Amino acid sequence: MRYLITGAAGFLGTHLSARLLAEGHDVIGLDNFHSGSEANVARLQRHSKFSFIRHDVTERYDIPCDWVCNLACPASPPHYQRDPIYTAKIAFLGVLFALENAERHRAKVLQASTSEIYGDPLVHPQPEDYLGNVNTIGVRSCYDEGKRIGETLCADFTRLGRVDARLVRIFNTYGPFMRADDGRVVTNFIDQVLRGQALTLYGAGKQTRSFCYVDDLIEGFMRVLAHPDNHGPINLGNPVEFTMLQLAEEVQRLVGTHLPLKFESLPLDDPRQRQPDITKARRLLGWEPKVKLADGLAKTVEYFRSIPRT
Ligand code: UDP
Repeated sequence: MRYLITGAAGFLGTHLSARLLAEGHDVIGLDNFHSGSEANVARLQRHSKFSFIRHDVTERYDIPCDWVCNLACPASPPHYQRDPIYTAKIAFLGVLFALENAERHRAKVLQASTSEIYGDPLVHPQPEDYLGNVNTIGVRSCYDEGKRIGETLCADFTRLGRVDARLVRIFNTYGPFMRADDGRVVTNFIDQVLRGQALTLYGAGKQTRSFCYVDDLIEGFMRVLAHPDNHGPINLGNPVEFTMLQLAEEVQRLVGTHLPLKFESLPLDDPRQRQPDITKARRLLGWEPKVKLADGLAKTVEYFRSIPRT
């Protein structure tokens, strides 16, 4: 099979590409390095079945393939908020052009959606039929509402029989090959601990997230890709929930440090809690995460130790 991976230079794109290559597929990576890294592509380019096209997904493209895995989009709040209009363009045009390319070549689409479509959830944990609580005009809206219209496009193309577009709602995921300056909590804490700096906690650190190790998430993608039918959106994430204070303790315990905590103001519209209900993924895909937070964090710390610090 020939897979087109948009966002191949990004964190999830590089992992999905590597996994597909390991299973013998051809992979074409597409990226413009807006938030991805050239090192991620250089590693993939060692593989003879990988090819790379430098391209901005807000411009149309015409690339024959069997699947378009549309992962191109900055996902870290500081990154996607830096140029919110561009983020909204990626979230709409990027999905539209992925769907049009797929339709032209009779390919299927895997769209990387997100738990952000639930916003600051009033239902906990979040099942797929929860419609969400999202601010349309907040600082996170370019991403949250962008990902929502992306789902709408995929659902309409599917309903009209034009493309079989699968939606995976990705909850917080972490692992090797994230950027040290990604700005999300796991990488911030690891980077701070390895530098011996205070850990930045936003608000009181009592908000929760549920962290999935990247290998588990990619296994979930593979099962959606292999599934014969489209069953609508599927949550993929780890249902074990932690407060940010607990996460800070866990990272420190692993590295054996005792650094001060620095409390900073809570960003606007920061969701107070988040935990995926993965009943649907368990039932349809026989999937659930296997890697415990301590083990996944240990592998991530090992990776961050191995890269040069600036
Ligand atoms: N957060 C924090 N310290 C940091 C970075 C993030 O306390 O250095 C908090 C942030 O306010 C949020 C949670 O950690 O409540 C997860 O943030 P992240 O940016 O990783 O992802 P989100 O799930 O908010 O998109």
